[in-house]
Amino acid sequence: MSEVTLSGIKKSFGQNLIVKGVDLQVGEGEFLVMVGPSGCGKTTLLRLIAGLEQVDAGEVRIGGARVNDVPPRDRDVAMVFQSYALYPHMTVRENLAFGLTLRKFPAAEIASRVQEVAGMLELNQLLERKPKALSGGQRQRVAMGRAIVRRPKVFLFDEPLSNLDTALRVQMRGELARLHRRLGATMIYVTHDQVEAMTLATRVAVFNGGLLQQVGPPLELYNRPANQFVAGFLGSPSMNFLEARREGAQFTGKGFTLPCPADVTAEEATVLLGLRPQDLRVESQGPLTGTVDAVERLGFDGYAFVKTEAGLVAARFDKGVNVSVGDKVHLAPVADALHVFSKDGAKALR
Ligand code: ATP
Repeated sequence: MSEVTLSGIKKSFGQNLIVKGVDLQVGEGEFLVMVGPSGCGKTTLLRLIAGLEQVDAGEVRIGGARVNDVPPRDRDVAMVFQSYALYPHMTVRENLAFGLTLRKFPAAEIASRVQEVAGMLELNQLLERKPKALSGGQRQRVAMGRAIVRRPKVFLFDEPLSNLDTALRVQMRGELARLHRRLGATMIYVTHDQVEAMTLATRVAVFNGGLLQQVGPPLELYNRPANQFVAGFLGSPSMNFLEARREGAQFTGKGFTLPCPADVTAEEATVLLGLRPQDLRVESQGPLTGTVDAVERLGFDGYAFVKTEAGLVAARFDKGVNVSVGDKVHLAPVADALHVFSKDGAKALR
């Protein structure tokens, strides 16, 4: 029993309402990743689950039990932070054992748990070293190990990989995924990194301005964003948005017309069209035209940023295609790629 349920959670700091009424259920064994712009309240939510902050309104449940009034040490959660504070004067072994020693576990139990975790995280060779003799990645593994030895019901991670270089992040990402499979524990993970979110999460929760915007499996959010914010937040470069009017079987905007897909049932006359750069191609023909303003070549392919009458639009081109700044180009959407939102972006119409 390790599901986490948040109901009607609100939290202010001084005059500022930071978490504005969040309902979210994280199932047992789930890997839920929270994303959202800086300041949207992700860390605050983790701290409320851990009990490091008190909710102003609402209820936090862990494993079915209300924990609003339960102190952090009795909530059976472990939190791993971005800045992992290891005890510098203790060896890796002592750092790993510390939480259990504090809780007066028998020595034999401590030794066997430390051994197990050291094996799991490949720390066996490092057990007698002090933190200053470890690399950043090794220190982060020790920080995770300290959480794992406790066998908590719930793991809370606050950007645990953001201090590591790219190669190490990729490696640790793989280790985290393996760890989750092996422990089967409930994990709630905050990150700025879209790749981490897309690859680690069983579900992603997107927040903005203290409110949950959408929660679901990563690909569902990518393919079926509920509103303009989610659509623009997930994916890189960001989705293009174009204002358009519906006129019969067509959408008409500044300098373009696009066919309206048959399944758009919207009554609205004015809408916001969404096209991911990956779904818009630089071609010899196409409904959008403009002048190339910037080019990003990624090797296999690249992105052209094109000034059109409807605004700056990002579009993908293939390796073989010649695109240079100043070129006049045509842009064509691939089949069935069009997203349609209400004019204010608040809801997806397709
Ligand atoms: P980031 O991605 O930058 O870490 P976040 O989404 O995790 O952002 P939080 O750390 O939850 O955001 O902070 C949300 C807001 O609450 C911020 O404006 C922050 O300044 C404010 N805040 C957080 N903790 C406190 C506190 N103890 N006292 C006052 N304000 C706080």
